[in-house]
Amino acid sequence: MELNLSPQFKERINQFIQSQSKNSSDENKSYLSHRYKCSKCKDLTFIIEGKEVIPCKCKEEKDTENIYASSGISGELVNKSFDNFNYAYDLQIMDAFNTAKNYAKYFNSIKNTKNNSIIFMGSEGCGKTHLSLAIANNLINRGIYVVYMSCVDDMKILKRSIKKREDYINAIDRYKEAQVLILDDLFRFNVSDIELEIISDIINYRYINSKPMIINSEKSMKDICDIDESVGNIISQICKKRNVEIKVNRLGSKVYG
Ligand SMILES: [Zn+2]
Repeated sequence: MELNLSPQFKERINQFIQSQSKNSSDENKSYLSHRYKCSKCKDLTFIIEGKEVIPCKCKEEKDTENIYASSGISGELVNKSFDNFNYAYDLQIMDAFNTAKNYAKYFNSIKNTKNNSIIFMGSEGCGKTHLSLAIANNLINRGIYVVYMSCVDDMKILKRSIKKREDYINAIDRYKEAQVLILDDLFRFNVSDIELEIISDIINYRYINSKPMIINSEKSMKDICDIDESVGNIISQICKKRNVEIKVNRLGSKVYG
């Protein structure tokens, strides 16, 4: 079968085959070896062994980089993990931590069920964003495509695009189609009709297509249902088994009664 490869790719394969046929001392001297991040595969992400093509070890790393590039997760959000989450101060937060960790651990058996999502509710500083991102970073490192949506910042971009239908469809697509979506800070401020329409559009689509969501909000489930009953009903259903309400803040003082 004739493969339809670009000339650049053919050239790289030729370089690769030539470099593999040299003996190792030649290879060490070769100027080519200094130009690649991975000297083993010359950045092709695969290795030819005999007649077999096998993935190089660097492939996983590269896949992770690609997922991060399209995820919207950057800066300090990348570093939020289960290892650096401080849960020692409160039993309730320890429970939230365990629920989050188990969700990540058993994600592959959860993802196709009706209750495939998780929600953290609590006031600012209770650790809900950290736990959402700890799950996301864990999944991304296992090759799962996660997209982060700030219901404040990303929402502004979506709102701007709504005037032109084509722009809106293009902008909203990544949040609808992501393997997993983080909805950070759902219903933070007073929600306008347009914002509600956008959130409903995303949540309905993902619900119908059984796509998991990691949601966090300062609002309680009752507040969410009061803002929009249909959105509230979907969230209660998909997060039925992982509906985490944190009623203390990080200083350990009770926020609610
Ligand atoms: Zn490699």
